[in-house]
Formats: sequence, structure tokens, C-alpha cells
Amino acid sequence: MFLNRLEIQKFRNLQPATVEYSPHRNYIFGDNAQGKTNLIEAIYLLCLARSFRTRDEIDLVPFSQEYYLIEGEFLDERISHHVGITYDVTHGKQIKIDGKRLTQFSRLIGLFPIIVLSADDYEITSGPPAQRRRFFNVLLSQSSSRYLDDLKQYDQVLKQRNAILAGAAENSTLDVWDEQLVQSGARLMVSRSVMVDELNGYLADFYSAMTSKRWTFRIAYHPSVKFQHREHVADHLQAALKRAASVERRQGKTVVGPHRDEFLFYISDNELRKFGSRGEHKSALVSLKAAEAQVLYKRTENRPILLLDDLYAELDNQRSLQALGLFDRASQIFITGTSLDYAGMLNAGSLGDQTTFMVENGKINRV
Ligand code: ATP
Ligand code: MG
Repeated sequence: MFLNRLEIQKFRNLQPATVEYSPHRNYIFGDNAQGKTNLIEAIYLLCLARSFRTRDEIDLVPFSQEYYLIEGEFLDERISHHVGITYDVTHGKQIKIDGKRLTQFSRLIGLFPIIVLSADDYEITSGPPAQRRRFFNVLLSQSSSRYLDDLKQYDQVLKQRNAILAGAAENSTLDVWDEQLVQSGARLMVSRSVMVDELNGYLADFYSAMTSKRWTFRIAYHPSVKFQHREHVADHLQAALKRAASVERRQGKTVVGPHRDEFLFYISDNELRKFGSRGEHKSALVSLKAAEAQVLYKRTENRPILLLDDLYAELDNQRSLQALGLFDRASQIFITGTSLDYAGMLNAGSLGDQTTFMVENGKINRV
């Protein structure tokens, strides 16, 4: 699956354009603040119905305009799919797939698997636990609609339950919610644990390939309720809820469960969040995204589209040279860089058979 054509009518600072992309590598260069990340963001939006930079749809509307509107054509070996997304304040967001209005936006998730690497991802390795949970939620939702359903159910039940604990809703139904919380919560935790193992199967090799040193890079899953065997997670969660009853009443909220999970990242036994240099964070993120791509491909039999925003920023020569090699050549990749990166790559003669674009003041030009 790849994005064959992107039609921008109105989106951030981008000028209206219809652009065809290579099914393999697409380089997008330009000076700062020209619209490179905006372009990447538009592609991400088409695949996941939301931005990776903002939760406010209005931010995506060009300044002093009323709406945004983008469309894309995705191609598989045999089939093409057409996705259109628009937003304005009065009607909200509307999504069409092949001409049909989508009522549940989450139905889009998983159809066009996508992975982004962007400056915002530093939050995954250096930010609070919620950022890491979000990373795993997006990845797992794209690889399994069951996970997405469980996540939606869990969030809903959690909200109800917290309302009861906070005294805002009738108490008599707490038991009913508990059962649902435990069942969906346990499945989320098992999925996360399996996913961490799967990613770890790639991380050390990828990280070592980038740094040419035998580092170990791994993720440790620290669920809010500890467990040894996956088949017993529900029992442990149930017991933990019972034990937490008085604390919950005092605090007025649910204090155990996957919404309190933590994932720790280690480079050779040192926690990345505490000790990592900027380049180490970036190298870890590149390895993480490459591993994510492998896992998504394996699980969905569909190569994810890769958006590598400012791939070369913060990396030294050695790591820059290795970075792209971690990603499957057969995938469609969008790589952005500054004009300086462009000059460097021209010098190195490494821009052979790729499609290259220049973005200038919101205008996308093929070179
Ligand atoms: P850098 O190399 O610094 O990352 P970039 O090319 O990725 O630059 P973008 O993040 O794509 O730059 O932003 C390009 C410009 O778009 C910025 O100047 C920004 O102010 C502008 N911009 C952002 N949102 C909107 C909007 N809603 N309407 C109009 N312009 C916008
Ligand atoms: Mg940018």
C-alpha cells in the first residue's frame, strides 16, 4: 500500500497542489519554515484521521481561512482507495473513503498503516509515561482492531468508574464496571507485553547497526499491576482493584490498571530518559520506528508508509549514513531534510533514483 497522489486544497501554509509520489523513496527538502513538516502531517492525517502535532483541528486550517481539505489516492497491487478529509468549525471533521461518509473515524485506523518519526517523538523517550502509552496505543491499534476496541471500551469504563468514585454518579453499578474494566484492561496489558517482546527482537540489532557498536537497546514493560504469566493478568488486576478500594475512595479515581502502565527504555542498562544524549535519543527513536515498521508489516501483511521528518537532524555522519538502511527498501518512505541536507546528499551522489521535491513557501516543486 502506498500513497500515489496527494491533493492539497487547503492545509496550513501549503499552496493548492496535486502531487504524485514514488512508491519508494520521496525526498522533501527546503529551508526552515517552508512547509515540509506540514506536508508530512497531511499524509499522516489521511491515514489516521488526526495529526501527530496537534489535537486542535483548527490549527490545520490555513490562517484566516474557514476550512482545510486534503485528499489522497492510495494504491495496492490491485485496488485504489480514495480518502478525503475536511474540517470547518460549523460541520466539524468529515471523512470520506471511496466516496462514502465515515461515521466512526476509528474505522480508518489500520487501513493504511503509517509510521511517523518527527521532532515530537522526543516525548516518547524523554517525556512522561502517558507519551509512551500513546506510542504503544497507536502502534497496537494499527495492528489490531481488537486492541482498538478494547482501548475504547477501557477508556469509557474508566471514565464511568471514576465518575462514581468521585461521587458524581450512582454507586450501585460499580461491580458491573469492574468486571468490564478487568476484562478489557487485562487484554490491553497482555497485548502490550507481547508487543514489547516483539519490538525487543529488533531493537538491539538496529541500534547497534546505527552506532557500529554492540550496544543493547531494549524496552522494559512495567505494568501498573505486576504479573508473571499472561494468562493470569485478569486475576491480578481484579485482586489489585480490590486491594486499592480504600485508596480509590480517598482519591476519587481508579489507581490501578493499564492507564497507569510505564515503559522504560534502556541503552546498555542505563535509562535513556535520564542519561541519554540528544543523539542517543534520536538513534533510539530511529531504531524504534524501524522496529515498529517490521512489526506492523509482519502483523498486517501490509508495508506501512514511513514518514521520516528531519531524519538527519541531530545525527552524526556515521549514524546518518546508517539510519535509512534500517528501513525496508520496498516501503514507501517520505524523508524530509533542510536545503543543507540536500546539498550534502547531492555531493555524496546519493540522490539517484529517488523522487525529490523542494518546498518553498508552501509550494511543492518536483526537482
Ligand atoms: P523546519 O525545517 O523548520 O522544520 P518546515 O518546512 O518543516 O520547517 P513547517 O513546520 O511545515 O516548516 O511550517 C511551515 C510554516 O507553516 C511555518 O512558518 C508555520 O508558521 C506555518 N503554518 C503553520 N500552521 C499554519 C496555518 N494553519 N496556516 C498558515 N501557516 C501555517
Ligand atoms: Mg519541519
